[in-house]
Amino acid sequence: MNYQIFYLPARIGRLGELAYNVWWSWNPDASALFQYLDKTLWELTHNNPVKLLRQIAPAKLEAAAADPAFLRRYDGVMLAFDYALSCEGDWFPQKYPNLKNETIAYFSAEFGVHNSLPIYSGGLGILAGDHSKEASDLGLPFVGVGFVYPEGYFTQKISAAGQQEAHYLQLDYSMSPIEPVFTKDTSGPIKFHLGGRDIYVAVWRVRLGSGSLVLMNADVEENQPWDRELSARLYGGNRETRLLQEMLLGIGGVRMLRALNLNPAVYHANEGHAAFLLLERIREFVAAGKSFEQAVEQVRATSIFTTHTPVPAGHDTFHFSLIEKHFAGYWNQLGIGREEFMALGAYNDHFGGGTNFNMTALALRLSGRYNGVSKVNGEVSRKMWHPMWPDKTENDVPITSVTNGVHVPTWLAPELSRLYSKHLGQDWLRQHDDPKFWERMDEIPDEELWNLHQRLKAKLLSFMRERARKRWMNEGTGATHALASGTFFNPEALTIGFARRFATYKRALLIFRDIERLKKILQDSWRPLQIVFAGKAHPDDAPGRSLIHSIYEIARDHQIGGHIAFVEDYDILLAKHLYHGVDVWMNNPRPPLEASGTSGMKAALNGVPNLSVRDGWWFEGYHGTNGWVIGADPMVEMSEEERDDADVESLYSTLEREVVPLFYERDSDGVPRGWVQVMKEAIRHGAPAFSARRMVKEYTERLYLSAMQAAEKK
Ligand SMILES: *Cc1c(COP(=O)(O)O)cnc(C)c1O
Repeated sequence: MNYQIFYLPARIGRLGELAYNVWWSWNPDASALFQYLDKTLWELTHNNPVKLLRQIAPAKLEAAAADPAFLRRYDGVMLAFDYALSCEGDWFPQKYPNLKNETIAYFSAEFGVHNSLPIYSGGLGILAGDHSKEASDLGLPFVGVGFVYPEGYFTQKISAAGQQEAHYLQLDYSMSPIEPVFTKDTSGPIKFHLGGRDIYVAVWRVRLGSGSLVLMNADVEENQPWDRELSARLYGGNRETRLLQEMLLGIGGVRMLRALNLNPAVYHANEGHAAFLLLERIREFVAAGKSFEQAVEQVRATSIFTTHTPVPAGHDTFHFSLIEKHFAGYWNQLGIGREEFMALGAYNDHFGGGTNFNMTALALRLSGRYNGVSKVNGEVSRKMWHPMWPDKTENDVPITSVTNGVHVPTWLAPELSRLYSKHLGQDWLRQHDDPKFWERMDEIPDEELWNLHQRLKAKLLSFMRERARKRWMNEGTGATHALASGTFFNPEALTIGFARRFATYKRALLIFRDIERLKKILQDSWRPLQIVFAGKAHPDDAPGRSLIHSIYEIARDHQIGGHIAFVEDYDILLAKHLYHGVDVWMNNPRPPLEASGTSGMKAALNGVPNLSVRDGWWFEGYHGTNGWVIGADPMVEMSEEERDDADVESLYSTLEREVVPLFYERDSDGVPRGWVQVMKEAIRHGAPAFSARRMVKEYTERLYLSAMQAAEKK
């Protein structure tokens, strides 16, 4: 890519290249560089350097190029940037020098890397983004494969009537850190023969340090109008669109890699959406002369599959007729007949769905290694997929687990990163997955951690206010809308955050079950509590949308007094403010339905303790001193009603007896010593164990390495 598209004085000419490598977003010095150029524009562009460089006044750039202080920072950042790109000294090439050319291809329907790239909807995508960034940091030869959705996922507004409105904005490629590879401005889209017709896709690249994502988009002129829709939106369309989208991801994804001259050693499918990649690889081996059985063996040996979904209904399935329609003619290329082909995906979920072509079953049959995303989720998955291994006991079902982790440099507040550098050493980031290292947490003075947290909280509240103000100014939304968005929030009051996708099992309304009791807690004049909610519901999910409506109604009820807020449009930018700035992170899904959850991990590493039911990651993350467990034992069977009652009672009493008193118990200097201790424990346990660094190393050593070695031998 030619980065000369921006006007840049030669002395700072590499800012363009930096803007187009999302690495800047997880290096606090690099992001500060753009911020220094024009702080206002930085805010207005929602921290998007591509947009900033396109819009900034040339005089500001010239001034920066002549400012010795700026240049010193610039040179420092460029040095670090080149070092990151070189992978020199990174963990993987150091430890496995003989494997450093064996690429891992990671397929995912979504990637959440930055808010300027709306190609994610929630947890699954953020996880894929974090995995990719950490793979780059560790020097793993890595390429992510997915889509760029021209209409992305929607932005959310709450109407005056309290309803979620979904707005799909057209992605402006020129304002995103995305580089053309095969597009109409370069050599043109590439062509596949797929499902009986030709289909064209444009290919784009997103740079993440030394690694990258390569993304397809079918919205090109060469395609028929209906095919242009295939990658228009994330999870849009009907079942058939969904099937075609998944064919494009799996089969098209492999072919795109070939068009890029990439022949990865190992393939990792993040969730069942990408499972067709396994078929395509079999097809390739058969075309190269292997038998179907040999091809399957080779594909299994080099494929990893991660399942996240803890309920049978959540797995992707298709009617056989639909599969027949689009795969007729494909199975003979695999060297098998129709029956054998259908059997690869056939699965009866035993929960009323009947027998269908099931993407998870397909992935389990054709990959060699599989995992769930937390210890509980591994257990749930073994139970759910036990019928696939009728000869084994449930415990011996070969689905293991690798607990999720979060990319620490992305999710840690830059201010905290500086605090850790100051007290734990400049080198802290290199060792952050080592639990022993964090035993030094006490070297950080309580006052400093506490005061910094106050600053981050103030930043969150001002972010909320500005969002509300903008909406009010631009659209004249009623004043109650502004109040319901948290403008009455008090920087001194204990603040709980709750943000997630609004699906009913997440039980967003649990805390409102006894509103009078809650009001007493919220409105205690000496020890008030306030709760900020955020999150989207899938536009087709009426019950989910109704949850948002209910919370919004409570937020604007004057009797609540502004202690409850709903902030619109939960995206990466808002998420960061929340994880950095609230005092407690709350999570109360109905167990065991939380596969892992990662928002609580992000909160923890910022010193925000969790208040959560014992499910997902918290089942293994809770250590008695780093937060609070609420609710009944998840392993005990009880009715939904009974569980809701037990859990909410436990939630209220934990708040009343433990959380609120501890937060307001201050020393003579105003520091809540006991509270700060919990904050430190949250960091000490959370940062190493739930880092993406620990996770990617674990994937590498437990799953990728043997697959890489199998690939070498072929
Ligand atoms: C981390 C994150 C999520 C996933 O969090 P959960 O705990 O799984 O709900 C969703 N959306 C955004 C923007 C995130 O940053």
